[in-house]
Amino acid sequence: MYSKPKIVILGAGYAGIMTAKRLTEKLSIPEAEITLVNKHNYHYETTWLHEVAAGTINPNQARVLLRDVVNTNRVNLVYDTVEKVDKDNKKVLLENGELDYDILVFSLGFESNTFGIKGMEENAFAISDIDSSRAISQHIEYQFAKFNTSEEQDESSLAILVGGGGFTGIELLGELVEKVPQLCKKYDIDRSKVRIINVEASPSLLAGFDPELVEYAKESLETRGVEFYLNAKITECTTNGFVVGDDNEEIKAGTVIWTGGVTGNSVLGKSGFELNRGKVSVTEDLRDPNSDHIFVLGDCAWVMNKEAGRPYPPTAQIAIQQADYAAENIKALLYGEPLSEFVFDNKGTVASLGNKDAVGSIFDDKKLYGKAATIMKQVIDNRSLFMIGGTKLILKKGKFRLF
Ligand code: FAD
Ligand code: NAD
Repeated sequence: MYSKPKIVILGAGYAGIMTAKRLTEKLSIPEAEITLVNKHNYHYETTWLHEVAAGTINPNQARVLLRDVVNTNRVNLVYDTVEKVDKDNKKVLLENGELDYDILVFSLGFESNTFGIKGMEENAFAISDIDSSRAISQHIEYQFAKFNTSEEQDESSLAILVGGGGFTGIELLGELVEKVPQLCKKYDIDRSKVRIINVEASPSLLAGFDPELVEYAKESLETRGVEFYLNAKITECTTNGFVVGDDNEEIKAGTVIWTGGVTGNSVLGKSGFELNRGKVSVTEDLRDPNSDHIFVLGDCAWVMNKEAGRPYPPTAQIAIQQADYAAENIKALLYGEPLSEFVFDNKGTVASLGNKDAVGSIFDDKKLYGKAATIMKQVIDNRSLFMIGGTKLILKKGKFRLF
């Protein structure tokens, strides 16, 4: 008896959810059985997590129930945690069961990378998902709430320390400079008592980004009260803060957040994939070089930018584009046709600096600052919602900030 090929997609982030959507457009019901596995019953906008972490948006705005945006007549939704892929037997081992596959899409996203820095995993918060991000905003608010009632009124308990000045760190600082004055007002605390500190190992923030835009971002944040420590490598994280630089300077804070780097999901390693800095160096058509029926996408994939001689940074933009190619290539694989080479169409980068400021470099290096960049960032955020859930989702969760 003919049995439909089983396509199993792991992770309902940008890469996974868009692959599922594209497959339902390209394949009819008799052509394949499609299953999407995700830890939670919701997709979240990973690109909004810094706002959840600072408490400038409600966590519910950043998440969407999968059953509301995935066609459940075409895609089986499985809410479970992937523990391992048994490649030899073509099975996915879940916390509560297992699934067989003929074609697998591995898109479980990123994990925070602490590079083995002493105490970092144990003592610092990290932005990884909705729960870890919400925990940060709740912790910050708790520090403010208890300040005036505690006997010693230790001002360092109010300080917020952000380790790493890449895009996540900078976008988080942009939210914090807006949230802190609100918390000061709510808990009757003088703003001057609260330090917001960023520690970055390199001489500059946002490595590789346009220097003029980097300077603009730094000034914008400094003007609103961020203290930067540049050329300052964090060597240890204690329960009280960071140890920094050759002279082991201690910077104390009640809230310590690590935004110093990410790597591919650890399920890759547990499943025996050959790894390059925690990711799979995929073939030109986005497959695992050792398994021609496994596609690896998004933050789990190491994709070389041949012109630049280095990998593309992991972004939502590239993950979404990879999903288009993966769906097309899965169809080609089912029909024994040639697969297409992934070509990244870089539309640029825009980073928010809070609600009312941003920097961006788009299309052919056109620079955007301030209001124009902020509007562009909103357009990008709303476009992402549109791709996942159409106009209805924009109206429900979209960003329409007025200036
Ligand atoms: P993810 O979006 O991380 O999705 C992975 C999915 O897998 C999640 O649903 C997760 O719950 C699920 N999952 C994980 N482990 C398991 C498991 N074991 N079992 C089951 N399910 C699991 N990029 C941009 O292009 N523009 C931006 O403005 C931007 N801003 C960012 C802001 C922040 C704060 C951060 C952290 C990142 C930002 N990025 C941005 C990067 C971008 O978010 C990532 O590159 C993108 O999310 C990668 O997509 P993905 O599909 O690979 O993984
Ligand atoms: P990152 O790797 O881009 O930046 C980490 C920063 O931490 C670097 O500047 C690094 O020098 C610093 N660092 C590392 N070790 C350190 C140490 N010991 N002491 C002090 N500083 C240290 O990581 P990220 O910012 O989390 O970004 C991850 C990915 O997500 C990137 O590809 C980024 O482009 C993408 N992203 C994009 C956007 C956007 O487009 N708006 C926003 C957020 C993230």
